[in-house]
Amino acid sequence: MNLAASADKQIFDLAIVGGGVNGCGIARDAAGRGLTVVLLEKDDLASGTSSASTKLIHGGLRYLEHYEFRLVREALIEREVLWSIAPHIIRPLRFVLPHRPGTRPAWLLRLGLFIYDHLGGRKALPPTRALALDTHAFGKPLQPGLFKRGFEYSDGWVDDARLVALNARDAADHGAIIRTRCEMIQASRSKDLWQITATDRCCGTSHVITARIVVNAAGPWVGVVGHRLPSTQQTCATRLVRGSHIVVPKIFDHDRAYLLQNDDDRIVFAIPYEGDFTLFGTTDADHNGSLSSIHPSPDEVTYLCDSASAYFSRTIRPSDVVWSYAGVRSLLDEGAGSAQAATRDYKLDLETSGGAALLTVLGGKITTYRRLAEQALALLEPLLAHAARGAWTATQPLPGGDFPIDAVQQLVDTLARHYPRFDRAYLQRLANSYGTRAARILGKAESADALGEHFGATLRQAEVRYLVHEEWARTAADIVWRRTKLGLRMTAAEIKRLDAWLAEALAAVPSAAQL
Ligand SMILES: Cc1cc2nc3c(=O)[nH]c(=O)nc-3n(C[C@H](O)[C@H](O)[C@H](O)COP(=O)(O)OP(=O)(O)OC[C@H]3O[C@@H](n4cnc5c(N)ncnc54)[C@H](O)[C@@H]3O)c2cc1C
Repeated sequence: MNLAASADKQIFDLAIVGGGVNGCGIARDAAGRGLTVVLLEKDDLASGTSSASTKLIHGGLRYLEHYEFRLVREALIEREVLWSIAPHIIRPLRFVLPHRPGTRPAWLLRLGLFIYDHLGGRKALPPTRALALDTHAFGKPLQPGLFKRGFEYSDGWVDDARLVALNARDAADHGAIIRTRCEMIQASRSKDLWQITATDRCCGTSHVITARIVVNAAGPWVGVVGHRLPSTQQTCATRLVRGSHIVVPKIFDHDRAYLLQNDDDRIVFAIPYEGDFTLFGTTDADHNGSLSSIHPSPDEVTYLCDSASAYFSRTIRPSDVVWSYAGVRSLLDEGAGSAQAATRDYKLDLETSGGAALLTVLGGKITTYRRLAEQALALLEPLLAHAARGAWTATQPLPGGDFPIDAVQQLVDTLARHYPRFDRAYLQRLANSYGTRAARILGKAESADALGEHFGATLRQAEVRYLVHEEWARTAADIVWRRTKLGLRMTAAEIKRLDAWLAEALAAVPSAAQL
C-alpha cells in the first residue's frame, strides 16, 4: 500500500517505530484485534538485534543464578506456545551440558535443571537426563578424558529473522501497513493525537502520519527515538551490550547443541547450524560505538575460539571462521556490575501525562516477544475508544505454520508428492522456511527450471519474487542473510548478481507487486 496515498489521510490507532521482533509482534497482535496500525522500520525488517541473536527459544538456564524466576517461567512457557504457532521455523533443540571439574558443581547443575524442567509447564519437550559422557556418543567430539559426566536438557531453536518477517506478514494480512526503509524523524503531540514525520529512505520523500498512540520499539535505538519524541518523562536507562557469534564448518555430526561453561563463569553455546556449520556464541561486551555497523571485535572472535577449543578435541582458530555477526542488546540498566549480570527482563513504560499516549519498550528477548506484545496491548486498550478483540496470538499460527508441531516431515512428503521432480533437500529447505506457504513459491512448476533464474545455492527467481512481494525484501542482503541464510553458500559474485537483478527489477516497476 502506498503510504503517501493512504496513511497521510488516515488516523491510526498505533504507530509503531521499529521492525524488530517486538515492534512486529505488537503490530501483529494489535492488527489482529482490529486496531489500525502502521509500522515504520528505517532499514529492513529484523536488520537490528532481531537477526543477530543466538536464535534460541529458551527459558534461560543461566538466569536462574540471578533469581530471575518470573522471566524464566514466562520464557519456559513460551517455548511450547511459539513452537505450536510456528513449527516450520521453530523446533526443539536438546542441549548437552558437560560437567567440567572446577566449574559449577554437578549437584548445582542437577538442581538448576530440575527447576528448569518444572517451572514452566513443559508438556511436549522431553525432560532432562544424565549422560555418561565418557562412553556416550555425545562425548565423542569433546576432549578425550576430560568430561565424564553431563546432562541433556530441552530448549528450542528459532530462525529469528524469519520470525520477525512472519509477524510482519501476519500483521499486514490483518490490515497493518508495514513500511520498511522508512525512518521516523520527528513527532509532535497534541492532547489526543501524534503527528509523526517519517522519511522514505529509498526515494527521500517525507510523510506525516497521524496516530493516537506511538510505540517506541526501536531496540538499541530506543534512546535515539526517545529523543525525537516530545516526552514528559525521562526514558528509563538502558545498557547497550554487544554479543558476537562465529560460524565454522561443522565440528560434530549429531543434532544436539552444547552448553559450555567457561572459566570466567560465562557460558557459550555450540549449536548445529544450517546443516553444514557450527554456531558459537555469545559474548557480553558493553557497546559504546556506533549502532550503524556492529561487528565482532577480534578479541571476541578469539574468546569464542578459545572457549570452543577448551571443550572440543578439534582446535578452533579465527582462520576457521566462515561468517560472524554481532548484535546489541538493549538491556534494562538496573546497575548490575558486569554486562552478563544485567537483567534480560523487559519493561513497558506507558506515558499518558503529556497528551496522546507513548509506550516505550525496554529490554526483552526473542522468546518473550509474544507475551510482551500481549501485555503492551493490555496496557493500551483502555486508552482506545473502540473495544477490540482480546488476546489471540497464543493459538493462531503464524503464516505457513498451520500444521501440527511434529509434522514437518509430513509436509515435506506432501510437497515431494506434488513436486516429484524437485530435490528433497530443496523441498525440505522451503518447508522449514515457509511451511505450508512453500507451495506459493512452487506454484505450478514441474521442475526447478520453471522457477526462473538461478542465483545460486538453490535460490531462484520465484523465491526472490515471493520474498519481495510478501516479505518486504529489497536487497540481496535482505534475502541471503535475513529471509534465508543462503549467503553461507553463495559466492560474492552470485550475491552481487542478485543485488543487480533486484535493483533493475525494482526500478522497472512502480511497485514491488508488479515484479
Ligand atoms: C548477541 C545476542 C544474542 C541473543 N540471543 C537471544 C536468544 O538466543 N534468545 C532470545 O530469546 N533472545 C536473544 N537475544 C535478545 C533478542 O535478540 C532481543 O531482545 C530482540 O531481538 C530485541 O528486539 P527489538 O525488536 O526490541 O529490537 P531490534 O530487533 O533491534 O529492532 C529495533 C528496530 O528499530 C529500528 N529503528 C530504530 N530507529 C528507528 C527509526 N527512527 N525509525 C524507524 N525504525 C527505527 C531498527 O532499524 C531496528 O530494526 C539476544 C540478543 C543479542 C544481542
